Amino acid sequence: MLGRVTGWVRAVDGVSFDIYERETIGVVGESGCGKTTLGRTVLRLIEPTEGIIIFAGKNITKFNKKRLRSLRKDMQIVFQDPYWSLNPMMLVRDIIAEPIEEHIKGKIKVEERVCELLKLVGLPEEAMWRYPHEFSGGQRQRIAIARALSTNPKFIVFDEPTSFLDVSVQAHIINLISELQQKLNLTYMFISHNLGVIQHVSNKIAVMYVGKIVEMGLVDQIFEEPLHPYTQALLDAIPVPDPDAHKGRVLLRGKVPSPENPPQGCRFHTRCPYKMEICTKTEPQLSDMGKLHKVACHLIS
Ligand code: SF4
Repeated sequence: MLGRVTGWVRAVDGVSFDIYERETIGVVGESGCGKTTLGRTVLRLIEPTEGIIIFAGKNITKFNKKRLRSLRKDMQIVFQDPYWSLNPMMLVRDIIAEPIEEHIKGKIKVEERVCELLKLVGLPEEAMWRYPHEFSGGQRQRIAIARALSTNPKFIVFDEPTSFLDVSVQAHIINLISELQQKLNLTYMFISHNLGVIQHVSNKIAVMYVGKIVEMGLVDQIFEEPLHPYTQALLDAIPVPDPDAHKGRVLLRGKVPSPENPPQGCRFHTRCPYKMEICTKTEPQLSDMGKLHKVACHLIS
């Protein structure tokens, strides 16, 4: 009320990872674990308080507004909610053309490019003369993807792009995202709370819990040899048709702690069935288990 700072929320804390060209890093975790903040920080839509972000060999952490603006065409984002992310007052043509006119105007014919992009995402050319409310959720997300592709980006952050869509439409959008990556040699960060979706699109996975990466590895490592109890619990929560498949599963009980006041020691200790005394006092560090597999757990390291 008096304008004083009474505390800090470390939504993402001490996170470090690499994404190589043409690969997809899947970022998974429950709501509030910092996935979205991480995606936006990588794009500098949220300013990091510490640390560095290197993009295509350049340290972009201190880029000023002008340099950042020229970088925007290479780094794009597709938001979670296609009902909120598209301006309802604008024609689809203008929604897709806006970034083209901002970043690469004069170099290409805008209308031709809009047609090409609509075709690329599986929509007819005539869609450009309609408004967002005339489309279904899946079609709107296709428009959002076309807009993200409009400037020929190298890197795209997908922030839960299917979570607002019907299950039947989700698979089409995920397949489209994968096909576009192959066709256009794109690099992705794919954020989701759904490990099934993450498995389908990613090369490697980072599992987040209350602002920290607790496990990171290649898709097979995470799915076949999950080491962190939280990753095991997330995998056990994936529904399967066999009732015996989840015998001995790790159940997640209780709420995710607030990042405003995270627990001391391991942030997962308030919910971990394997908690030891050390877990409440000392924070486990992300340790290398070999072959790119990393885990932060006293049980393992
Ligand atoms: Fe559980 Fe301890 Fe490992 Fe944390 S460090 S996940 S509390 S065993």
